[in-house]
Amino acid sequence: MTEHPEVGTRVQRTSTTLADGRELIYFDDSEPYLSGAARREVVDERPLDGRPTAGTMRLDALTGDWVSIADHRQNRTFMPPAGECPLCPTGGGTMPSEIPAHEYDVVVFENRFPSFATESTATGSSDDPLLGNAPALGRCEVVCFTSDHGASFSSLSPARARTVVDVWADRTLELSALDAVEDVFIFENRGEEIGVTLHHPHGQIYAYPFVPARTAALLRQATEHHRKTGRLLGADLLAAELEAGSRVVIKGAHWTAYVPYAARWPLEVHLVPKRDVPDLVALDDDERDELAEVYLDLLHRLDRYYEGPDGAPIDLPYIAGWHQAPVRQGREVSRLHLQVMSILRAPGRLKYLAGSESGVGAWVNDVSPEAVAARLREVG
Ligand SMILES: [Zn+2]
Repeated sequence: MTEHPEVGTRVQRTSTTLADGRELIYFDDSEPYLSGAARREVVDERPLDGRPTAGTMRLDALTGDWVSIADHRQNRTFMPPAGECPLCPTGGGTMPSEIPAHEYDVVVFENRFPSFATESTATGSSDDPLLGNAPALGRCEVVCFTSDHGASFSSLSPARARTVVDVWADRTLELSALDAVEDVFIFENRGEEIGVTLHHPHGQIYAYPFVPARTAALLRQATEHHRKTGRLLGADLLAAELEAGSRVVIKGAHWTAYVPYAARWPLEVHLVPKRDVPDLVALDDDERDELAEVYLDLLHRLDRYYEGPDGAPIDLPYIAGWHQAPVRQGREVSRLHLQVMSILRAPGRLKYLAGSESGVGAWVNDVSPEAVAARLREVG
């Protein structure tokens, strides 16, 4: 029995502390780390302020949604020059980065500018129920997929992608155990069009002290389906998509990728497990192995979806997010799935979330989901 069952013995897991008290965890999957020849203690000697604390979140009385007011984030790092990347290893004559080591495989650390944090100094609450607020307790983490600044998730080896799957599961297990946390969302933003402020290949994890609006909507639908039919929505929906067939992009032994019937985004794909599992922790080894391969296959197709004027493929700007069951409710009816979406509707043309989408949440998609699926099959 290992202390951290999600990463097994294939990955060397080393937890350490940054200068301001934030946790940083190395997940090493290559020699010489596995033999113990590397990962000597490297101390973060930067003169940092104290450990970041939680801001406040306010309840929007009109919608019932929580909004995190994180005004300290205005000062966060924005598009640093390449030599000052905070996600590259320290060394090589550059400034000390967030990662003290001179090399790493995969690393996770607490965000220096978090929207949610484990400790709060927030004071002052309102007695007025229409002006509800609470400390923004939770945790925000950054996941660096590789130390190679110029890489991307899609350029990772299958073995490295598999390590990242284990890391996601490890973080889901640990963050779900925090008292304040109700929902763990793992995501990656890729591309300047999506608002990425750091080019180094990385993703993020938000552990929220509430169930976010979309997660709540998914849970509501799954619960209602189960009440009416006694069956699980995730399983029935996958069966319906497989039977229709026209939107299926990749069909593996354990995973299926399809363009959803009611896709909202110009380019949207869901990657779903065959088995009913609430979260990444519940995936077995075979499912994790195939996930790494199928996800890389999907990302390669997405990067070949559009061609520039010279016929060269365009690196797709995308958001990829793992929908997991909330930590404390609805786990028996929720099913894990990945949603990958892009606002690029043609080379050089973005879909803006304008009046209808931003104003009332009513989506209009100009692209047929079946046509998107056909193109993604073609570029496989
Ligand atoms: Zn970098």
